[in-house]
Amino acid sequence: MPPPGAAWQGVRIALMEAFNWYEKHVNPGLAGLLRFTGLDKVESHAEGVYVWDTEGRRYLDFLGLYGTLSLGHRHPRVLEAVRAQLDRMPMSVRVMVSEPTARLAHRLAEITPGDLSMVFFGNSGAEAVEAALKFARIHTKRPGFITTKNGYHGKTYGALSVTPKEHYQLPAAPLVPGVTVVPFGDARALEAAIGPDTAAVIVEPIQGEGGIRVPPEGYLREVRRITREKGVLLIVDEVQTGLGRTGKLWGVDWEGVEPDILTSAKALGGGVMPISATIVRPEIFEVYKHEPLIHSTTFGGNPLAAAAALAAIEVTLEQNLPARALEMGQYLMASLKQLWDAYPEFIEEVRGRGLMVGLEFTDADIGALVVAELASRGILTAFGLNNPKVVRLEPPLIVEKEHIDQAIEALGESLAATKVALEGVL
Ligand SMILES: *Cc1c(COP(=O)(O)O)cnc(C)c1O
Repeated sequence: MPPPGAAWQGVRIALMEAFNWYEKHVNPGLAGLLRFTGLDKVESHAEGVYVWDTEGRRYLDFLGLYGTLSLGHRHPRVLEAVRAQLDRMPMSVRVMVSEPTARLAHRLAEITPGDLSMVFFGNSGAEAVEAALKFARIHTKRPGFITTKNGYHGKTYGALSVTPKEHYQLPAAPLVPGVTVVPFGDARALEAAIGPDTAAVIVEPIQGEGGIRVPPEGYLREVRRITREKGVLLIVDEVQTGLGRTGKLWGVDWEGVEPDILTSAKALGGGVMPISATIVRPEIFEVYKHEPLIHSTTFGGNPLAAAAALAAIEVTLEQNLPARALEMGQYLMASLKQLWDAYPEFIEEVRGRGLMVGLEFTDADIGALVVAELASRGILTAFGLNNPKVVRLEPPLIVEKEHIDQAIEALGESLAATKVALEGVL
């Protein structure tokens, strides 16, 4: 809702400077990429599935902050809960117990599988992973981790150490030692990699940044059986898949798997607040009985973020958003497959589950051209951080069929425009 009249014109000019400040003081490389994709814009406001830039242009958000915006932008129930908490007490003094934080832990224990029932709160996905890795070492007294090729778990040191992408790892080396990498989807390779020093296996139910990779059916169940048999902890990273994105509340629910540690973040704050949770079986938190400050953070699980998460969970369950993700995801995938048939020279594969959908192009440059064409038609998407050939479509779970139709129409036009552009070059 831009402010009316002449005052807004002044604001608009000042806002356009923001892009230059960002390029100069924050990230010149990313600013350059945004320029290439035609998104050298400054965002203004957002509502539901839409975002507006400061020039008044409206965009359909089919990226959804990498799966964060399951409820869309500014969901009224989340805003209401956050406003009420803001007026009461946004930050905890930490030497008293915060009601929203305690209630959220109780709620998470209720809605996560098995006996996952103790919660560490952080502020980001990477923090949730850091905590998981530390708790695994502390509990097992073993140093080793097994992670999967193309897995993505964040960029702080521990999380980066289990994110096997040389491009990000090498310039920051040395990393946390003791990490073994195995192919994703291959339970036998994982079993062979487990040794006497292995503390835990960390895996995503569906790889997100790695390019929306769905493992073969039975994989997670097999990994659970193997880790249990070998006495190794299973950390399932649900930072992106959690809270309905894949068509079930948790990605592990597809195989009825109960991990020892589950991480949640992106959608947990209802698209309004940053918050993460590392949810573990009680024996893993034994250490807190005698070392209550063994792992802690000032802001994690603060009352403002906890209020947002409580509202987000209730909306997700009441509106049965996992089922909605499944239905809309099927509709989206079916439409994408028609475009795949029409452009086999550009599209390599369409894959995903629920509203976690990947469109793999035959070439990363074609993907980049299509992302730029889509942006010019008012559709926001992006490629995977670990795989530039794959464009991710992760719209809010509240998306309507008409929005999907609109995105598909724009994608069809974008592919046609890319074809014309490439024919001009050849
Ligand atoms: C995004 C992501 C992370 C990292 O979360 P941040 O909030 O960006 O630190 C970790 N794991 C998975 C599976 C993710 O998708």
